[in-house]
Amino acid sequence: MPPTAKQALGRKGEEAVRLTVPCPRCGKARHLTPLRANFQCADLICKFCGFLAQVKALTLIDGELPDHVLGAAWGPQHEQIVAGIFQPLFLVGFSSGAELLSIDYVPAHILQATPSVFEPRKPLGKTARRAGWQGFLYNISLLPPIGIVRLYPPETRHAVVVTGEDALKDDGL
Ligand SMILES: [Zn+2]
Repeated sequence: MPPTAKQALGRKGEEAVRLTVPCPRCGKARHLTPLRANFQCADLICKFCGFLAQVKALTLIDGELPDHVLGAAWGPQHEQIVAGIFQPLFLVGFSSGAELLSIDYVPAHILQATPSVFEPRKPLGKTARRAGWQGFLYNISLLPPIGIVRLYPPETRHAVVVTGEDALKDDGL
């Protein structure tokens, strides 16, 4: 079966992280490898150190992250939250033309400190194809801004540093 548009976007997001982001734990480049489909609550594994991460690919409007990002099935995610298992999250933003615009990283401990980010949705109604299935949203707006790291494009961080230095100059420091 050919992948759906949503699956294709998901794979594109995983590939963008694999090519662009070194493993946050061991630092090795191009080691974050897609897990087989339906591995619970994780999409990538570092083939060196076993680091796991989730990836959410999304199409950005005006290049900005939305407040809410569609998650996956709530049941297994809820079980992991209750068990104290939190996987870090990569948010990969594309333009409507499928051009990579941004990669943001939310470490696991930030999600653990802000579990209200996980917002369960109502189960699907009886008439739905997957009646009773329940998903969740990530409410990104609840994350503390210091808990999100922009990894791509790399100039962004530099620009922030320059702005910071300028601000110090403005303050006469
Ligand atoms: Zn690693």
